[in-house]
Amino acid sequence: YTPQTAALADIDPSRLKVTKRTDLKPQPDLEGLAFGRVFTDHMLTIPWTAESGWDAPQITPYGPLHLEPSSTVLHYAQTLFEGMKAYKNAEGKVTLFRPDMNMKRMITSASRIALPTFNGDALLDLIKQLIRLDAHWIPERPGYSLYIRPTLIGTQRAIGVGPPDEALLFVILSPVGPYYKTGFKPVALHATTEYSRAAPGGTGAFKLGANYAPGVVPQREAAVHGYSQNLWLHGPEHYLTEVGTMNMFVAIRNAQGVAELITPPLDGMILPGVTRDSVLSIAREHASGAHKISGLPDQLIVSERPVTMPEVKQALKDGALLELFGAGTAAIISPVDRVGYLGDDLIIPTGPDGLGPLSKPILAEIQGRQRGEIPSSWSVA
Ligand code: PMP
Repeated sequence: YTPQTAALADIDPSRLKVTKRTDLKPQPDLEGLAFGRVFTDHMLTIPWTAESGWDAPQITPYGPLHLEPSSTVLHYAQTLFEGMKAYKNAEGKVTLFRPDMNMKRMITSASRIALPTFNGDALLDLIKQLIRLDAHWIPERPGYSLYIRPTLIGTQRAIGVGPPDEALLFVILSPVGPYYKTGFKPVALHATTEYSRAAPGGTGAFKLGANYAPGVVPQREAAVHGYSQNLWLHGPEHYLTEVGTMNMFVAIRNAQGVAELITPPLDGMILPGVTRDSVLSIAREHASGAHKISGLPDQLIVSERPVTMPEVKQALKDGALLELFGAGTAAIISPVDRVGYLGDDLIIPTGPDGLGPLSKPILAEIQGRQRGEIPSSWSVA
């Protein structure tokens, strides 16, 4: 094992080699566009070795990777990823939403599993060049966007668990439609007590491939019982942690009649979601008076604190539960109308269009900032 030193080459956009595809693929039918099934004409790849660091980035036609079966990613899940979106507005201007947050999280994930880190601005520069080349793939329709999937894998060609001496970073692009075709349809959750997503000291706070495969069976079991996602709980107290692959928010009215927006704290088990941070920032800007959001109650308490299923159940019984929702890049906001918990179905209040009293104005603000209709530093060209 050669430890990485400062002398190793970092990602260098000036070394980019571009090989364009000559036989451009046909554009998909937007009506039937399923999430993550269609990929654009090109991809970005950047190989790394422990000996010399990051090699020249390449943009090539989208296609298979060449990996030896001994590649460590295929045995020990040395893989991490990101998920972010690019938007095209009515004037054809392309913007990204808070991509610096994704770059930062990707580097944090890489550090956690001994994959090489890199200059996030350099990778972002290359991602923008890839998007520019395939910009005609970004649907202009409202609610549509280009999903960006940066991935980093260990490709050491030798079986054995350790820091890989070779790695590959790649970025692929997929045009996507609105997560819900008609409005924001509420989902039913199975409050899962028989499996856990993450544990103290584990890897729940990092976007590692290894966190996702074990969630498939619990998700399938929830689906068999008529629930669309798992509500992941932790510990004998049944702390709420996340919803499927989204962060989780609960809104209650406290004893003084003031609305409180609650999300679990970043305690090492929660993925630090970009949407989570956006919801919190918008709610806090409103609460402090720095940027009032029309539709939100004037007085609002914003809490990052543990919340348990017994607390949610009690709030529901007292008529104090305002709403429960998931937040993530894919759906943005996903309202919840039912939670199956220890054999009971808790019916969660939802608004007429699915969204609750806090999530509705917050979603409108997020979408406005994503499309650049509401000016903010979050939308970057
Ligand atoms: N939690 C998990 C486990 C996730 O996979 C995701 C999706 N990245 C999120 C939360 C939401 O994160 P973000 O808002 O950055 O998409």
